[in-house]
Amino acid sequence: MVNSAVLVVNRLYVPIHVTTVRRAFTLLYAGIAKAIDPQFQTFDFKSWAELSVIAHEEKVGLVNRAIRIPRVIALQTYDRIPRKHIRFSRINIFLRDKNTCQYCGRHFSKGELNIDHVIPRSRGGKTEWENVVCSCFDCNRRKGGETPGEANMTLIAQPRKPQLATWGRISLRGCPYEEWRPFLSWIDASYWNVELSQE
Ligand SMILES: [Zn+2]
Repeated sequence: MVNSAVLVVNRLYVPIHVTTVRRAFTLLYAGIAKAIDPQFQTFDFKSWAELSVIAHEEKVGLVNRAIRIPRVIALQTYDRIPRKHIRFSRINIFLRDKNTCQYCGRHFSKGELNIDHVIPRSRGGKTEWENVVCSCFDCNRRKGGETPGEANMTLIAQPRKPQLATWGRISLRGCPYEEWRPFLSWIDASYWNVELSQE
């Protein structure tokens, strides 16, 4: 239950991301976020904790008492509109490839991986999601300045631009909680599910 999903919105009630109940309570307790009830009333931690728990409601035990689980929280200091793009960055390439060499399939720490151009730059290969992968030093050496075909190597997966909808640990697809619906209906559903390469 503490790892189930809570929708995080900014002060303008624009969905930012999805977090866990555990993290949501941390944010509430620290005063960084407020809980929102289905009537759109906001509560700080104290006032939320004082709400009586109705028998059928979801709750967690905290400090000797039951406390209602908020399904939507609003950050108090974060007005940024959510990013429409997953930044094409080193860290995100590692995340996409799960720190796994895309040639030999073995898992490495970040320091043991290179970012490899599948089609080498010297052959006109571009620096873009579809042409860069994580590669271990051994595979990198073996491949040298060649294409995978020339080096007789195979990618374990075709590199793609990640989709925003599946980038977080929890996808918003399917709207698991009724409490989320009013927030999600404010935005174009395609925003969450769009294939970024089509933008
Ligand atoms: Zn490798």
